[in-house]
Amino acid sequence: MKRTISILGSSGSIGRQTLKVAEVCGHEVAAITVNKSVDLAEEQARKFRPKLAVAVDENAANHLRLRLADTGVKVLSGQGGLLEAASLPEADTVVTAIVGVAGLRPTLAAIDGGKRIALANKETLVCAGELVMARAREKGAEIIPVDSEHSAIFQCLQGCRNRGEVRRLIITASGGPFYGKSREELFPVTREQALKHPNWAMGAKITIDSATLMNKGLEFIEAMRLYAMPPERIQIVVHRESIVHSLVEFEDGAILAQLGSADMCLPIQYALTWPERTSGPAKPLDLLSCPPLTFQKPDPDTFRCLGLALECAEHGGTSTAILNGANEAAVALFLEDKIGFLDIPRLVERALERVVSRENPALADIFEADRAARAAVYEAVR
Ligand code: MG
Repeated sequence: MKRTISILGSSGSIGRQTLKVAEVCGHEVAAITVNKSVDLAEEQARKFRPKLAVAVDENAANHLRLRLADTGVKVLSGQGGLLEAASLPEADTVVTAIVGVAGLRPTLAAIDGGKRIALANKETLVCAGELVMARAREKGAEIIPVDSEHSAIFQCLQGCRNRGEVRRLIITASGGPFYGKSREELFPVTREQALKHPNWAMGAKITIDSATLMNKGLEFIEAMRLYAMPPERIQIVVHRESIVHSLVEFEDGAILAQLGSADMCLPIQYALTWPERTSGPAKPLDLLSCPPLTFQKPDPDTFRCLGLALECAEHGGTSTAILNGANEAAVALFLEDKIGFLDIPRLVERALERVVSRENPALADIFEADRAARAAVYEAVR
């Protein structure tokens, strides 16, 4: 089935790969959005001729408007532009590839528009998962995960007629570039070292999250929300080869897994075409050239970010929004060379101690938790 898609965050890694899938598979592009990447937005708009192009940055939008003056592509800026791209009537599917809690409001706008959400913004479910999933049920909006692990679980659940038959979800983790290292060895880690992921090419924020293992913690919470699973029925296993993308164990002990090369085009494409499968640009997996597949226990004590995320998963309420907000602020500081690698978990833990978590939060409580968590991080480094 051909879809008409709006891509929120078209200049990022997932956004660019979504356009590759759209080109190869013949999906229409209704809207693209960038933060301030004018050159790339112009190139994408000329190639895919969307109805709408958004640059969130006002200045960038003014430049983009001049550059696209001959094309008939409408250019908007700011949060308003993002919300318009998310709810554009022409689009039947919205790919949410914005990084961070910034993706929350546009995702809700897309849900209210009854769109299919190809969800590549895990922070939205980490911060406001219960609220977002309830809204999607109410509006009849499908949420199909793009995150490779959650797509793998989603694929393994096809044909499962009764969710009560699922015993456990098993999420695989590559372990990142520093797996097996001690805290002493992690102390001097630099930005450049942390940005080198062994298996996946991704944006800066998620690559740092993969190095701290916060990414796996966020994915654990994402899985709880997407599949309405309690934490005791989700397991993380380190799988260095990134070939098994995740697994589902059923009540009879059978385990189904999804395997593939480390290529995000496949989960992106499946989120667009589900329940159908079509040929596409993803690199096929050659089993005969695979290394032996290994599975090991994660170490949430050394990789404290993972430990903190698992504690928040248990605790619920706004604690997951505090975790996420503090992590976003700390990772940004690390990427600016203002703090060390082990300061990331230290600052997140401090924010979790300082900011009080609330039960059954409304949207306003979640945004307040996010704001307070960031403030606690900035206060600590000042
Ligand atoms: Mg993932």
